[in-house]
Amino acid sequence: MNSKLIVVTGAGGFIGGNLVASLRQRGCSIRAVDIKPLDRWYQRFDDAESLCLDLSEKENCEFAARGAAEIYNLAANMGGMGFIEGNKALCMLSVLINTHMLMAARKCGIERYFYSSSACVYNGTLQHTSDDGEKYSPPALKETDAYPALAEDGYGWEKLFSERMCRHFMEDFGLYTRVARFHNVYGPWGTWFGGREKAPAAICRKVIEAQSTGKNEIEIWGNGHHTRSFLYIDDCIKGIDLILASKIIEPINLGSSEAVSINQLVDIVEDIAGIKLKRRYVLDAPKGVNGRNSDNAMIRERLGWEPSIPLRVGLEKTYAWIYEQYQLRERGAKGVVREADD
Ligand code: NAD
Repeated sequence: MNSKLIVVTGAGGFIGGNLVASLRQRGCSIRAVDIKPLDRWYQRFDDAESLCLDLSEKENCEFAARGAAEIYNLAANMGGMGFIEGNKALCMLSVLINTHMLMAARKCGIERYFYSSSACVYNGTLQHTSDDGEKYSPPALKETDAYPALAEDGYGWEKLFSERMCRHFMEDFGLYTRVARFHNVYGPWGTWFGGREKAPAAICRKVIEAQSTGKNEIEIWGNGHHTRSFLYIDDCIKGIDLILASKIIEPINLGSSEAVSINQLVDIVEDIAGIKLKRRYVLDAPKGVNGRNSDNAMIRERLGWEPSIPLRVGLEKTYAWIYEQYQLRERGAKGVVREADD
């Protein structure tokens, strides 16, 4: 057993839950914290201390940080485009979580602090490109493209501000902080219905729904030409580990560089499911920026590593997990990952 106590915030959610699963396999002692009631956590482990705390409150952050050596701060009020475009104030209020966690980390003498930022910090003007269909190659965003700043309204600005807060706690107070900018993470144990789900999970669910109900039609937000890259959860967990241990003190991309359009994403999921569906495009639905990809030059150079799990491989695992979840929900059985308020 590793005697150092590690705190994971947002541990009741997707990435936090998977991180706890990975850390406990390494024998770490873990304090897992989330605002959700314990019975709504996506994954929970008996050998980890699990606390239900609102980390926007300063006292709760101090309680969570006490006696710990490391903090992985993954807690945020967030979701896919449908959520972040309609809940900008709620997204910005996550600033309280990182601010109070940093203050608690300093007060409690934490050795290492990890913060999960996002590709939504990047300047939106670099991502508004001509909408010329499937041949369009999206801009790969390098770390310096966050400035001059014009982040995603609400969620992205909060992430950019919180990145800087980490930087200044390091520069002024000597706190060891590391920051990764995640690009669309997906995989098992993520939100897959209820309004906060992201594109890969939403598309897997819609394909399963269309197949199960015999409806044979899928609704796609936007015209399907907008592009993203998607990072499989195992690469995300490995990247967090490498970045936290590294000497990289500036925020760094943690994303796949395999960009696909939403139409191509649907093609892959249809292929996995063995079905072809009629596509209905909802042009006024939230879809975010037109296109972006992760520029991985810096992570390759500094770590000699970059995410490499092919989208098709990650989607097969994600599809299989959502399929199982869908069947459980249909049967009204226990063990379905769902939002606290759905
Ligand atoms: P998630 O929503 O599954 O997990 C976040 C967790 O934080 C939730 O369980 C939520 O209950 C918890 N939380 C919210 N407010 C809280 C509070 N006041 N106190 C304590 N806990 C609180 O999201 P995720 O996908 O696991 O994301 C984890 C982190 O990574 C977040 O900071 C997110 O912004 C960042 N991120 C995720 C992605 C992605 O694609 N999933 C992309 C970029 C950045």
